[in-house]
Amino acid sequence: MNDRTALVTGANKGIGKHIARLLAAEGLTVYVGSRDRGLGQRAVEEIGAGARLLVLDVTDLDGIARAATQVDRLDVLVNNAGISPSLAPPADTSVEEFRRTYETNVFGVVAVTNAFLPALRRSPHPRIVNISSGTASLTWSTNPNPQFTPGSGGAAAYRSSKAALNALTVLYAQTLAEDGFKVNALAPGMRATDLNPLAATAGDDPAEAAQGAARLALLPDDGPTGGFFSWDGTPVPW
Ligand code: NDP
Repeated sequence: MNDRTALVTGANKGIGKHIARLLAAEGLTVYVGSRDRGLGQRAVEEIGAGARLLVLDVTDLDGIARAATQVDRLDVLVNNAGISPSLAPPADTSVEEFRRTYETNVFGVVAVTNAFLPALRRSPHPRIVNISSGTASLTWSTNPNPQFTPGSGGAAAYRSSKAALNALTVLYAQTLAEDGFKVNALAPGMRATDLNPLAATAGDDPAEAAQGAARLALLPDDGPTGGFFSWDGTPVPW
């Protein structure tokens, strides 16, 4: 099928832009979600054929509703937009900091997913990929940085927001399974992007992480749903 469409939120830079580029290279029409029109337009021009701009701030409910009216059918939704404002443990994190982080990483995903569900239901093989983080796992970490190892308690707002996103991934997968949806979460690995304060040591190329997202976005009908996977396809423990 070569008339498939995808939406990648926060696709003006970082991992999201690489995901959009890969999906466009697969022949999909890709809506490049960006809250900034200029940055989004630049990404669309960089990606080239198949890319279209969709101005979308995942915290703006009215804007999300307007954006949803511009998309008739959607085959793939990649909830990629995210923020990570602090590396602090919970005891040093204000409620306001938690709220701000959840606003984008959790409530933003619910708002965008629910608004685009009617368009996804028009797809014969709808797929949702939630860009989570290995640091959300309560039991597992291959991350060498001390803030992120299980038991360290660092980056509490971010990690707990992604744990909530993981829970929502399972709940959406359960709810939508009978309608043919595949809903999965991806741990992209430590990547050198603006979000990652340890980018200098993160090292790894965000393009590599995008391959894992593209695989989940293009899953066959007998593929998994309600799972949490590393970028290389390995299951990650919750
Ligand atoms: P970047 O900071 O490079 O990209 C984040 C993107 O999200 C940007 O396009 C940003 O837009 C967008 N964004 C933030 N808030 C909003 C909003 N309210 N509405 C719309 N877009 C928004 O970071 P990454 O590419 O690293 O992050 C992408 C995803 O990968 C995130 O969900 C992150 O949690 C996850 N991740 C990243 C890891 C890493 O090591 N880099 C590790 C694990 C997970 P703008 O340019 O306008 O700020």
